[in-house]
Amino acid sequence: MSCTTIELAQFSPGTRRDLTICRFGRPGKGPKAYVQASMHADELPATLAAQHLRALLQQAGEEDRIMGEIILVPAANPIGFSQLLLDHHMGRHHCPSGRNFNRFWPDATAAVMAQEAQFTPDPAVNLARARRIIRGFLDEQAPHAEDEALKLELMKLAHDADIVLDMHTDLDAELHLYIDPGHWPGLRDLAALLRAGVVMFARHSGGNPFEETVAAPFLAMREADIPCTLPITVTIELRGQLDVDDELARADARAIFDFLILRGLVQGEAEAGDFTGIAAPFEATGLVRAPTGGIIIYECPLGAMVRKGEPIAHIADPLTARRTPVKANQTGRLFTRNLHRLAHAGDVIAKIQGTSPLPERKQGALMTD
Ligand SMILES: [Zn+2]
Repeated sequence: MSCTTIELAQFSPGTRRDLTICRFGRPGKGPKAYVQASMHADELPATLAAQHLRALLQQAGEEDRIMGEIILVPAANPIGFSQLLLDHHMGRHHCPSGRNFNRFWPDATAAVMAQEAQFTPDPAVNLARARRIIRGFLDEQAPHAEDEALKLELMKLAHDADIVLDMHTDLDAELHLYIDPGHWPGLRDLAALLRAGVVMFARHSGGNPFEETVAAPFLAMREADIPCTLPITVTIELRGQLDVDDELARADARAIFDFLILRGLVQGEAEAGDFTGIAAPFEATGLVRAPTGGIIIYECPLGAMVRKGEPIAHIADPLTARRTPVKANQTGRLFTRNLHRLAHAGDVIAKIQGTSPLPERKQGALMTD
């Protein structure tokens, strides 16, 4: 293992931020995997899992069992780590700009497709050429803010990987994944290893989240009938923010390590077992909104199977005795809830994964922020 630090470009005098990069194996020996944790900096279960993964990879490296190149960024967002406001950690958005740290990633699709004439019938040649164009595009970008500079550095590390795993954490949630629909059922083993409750097929969700933006140029090539391999890109939501637990983190790290074994990045034996959750389009994810403001009282635990129209919570009005039911807007599995229990009318307070797409869920506008 070698650990290096990249000094991020300075945007305010007298400050300095470093990004720590752990490298295992060596470039060109086999496939490349890129794993980052906690791009939303208040998602500590992801960073804890990365810490355990680092130890597993270090040991495998010492035993010469890394068959390709693996890059691990255990804490991907030093800017977000530092953002405390009135004693609250603000890790989701870049405070000076209000930008979500997992939106607005630099998208090289137009640059790649502008050179469409370069491509051939050979997918391996096309992959290498596309990666060269993407790297050139990234090198030309001039960031205007610290969060943009951070995203550029991370994208330069990830853009040419065969496997990209982006580890996050939700508010109060079961473990769930976002993957491109082209990778299902191929990634059933990863979902089984992680014991995911829900797998969502996300493509063109809107807002350029990291894992979709890494894949976007290759998807555009395939949509234009240019032969090209689609990299495996996954967002892994490691439960909820309060699930900071060594046993869970150790199991999560082991699951990712075993997945790297199954994909030939690490030499060893691993078995995936069965996936028992729901795998369905992101358009089939019901966003349950609070009908009124007040105190949220959940009546269904995470993982509960619910029917459309069934009450899953009540909102208690703190000023009267009134209680307003919150009804499921989808039949399926309740897999996220709010961490904070004060709702304003219209807030999304739960998500339910069904199997039938909902008419109000449209490509390009599938994210909540
Ligand atoms: Zn996140």
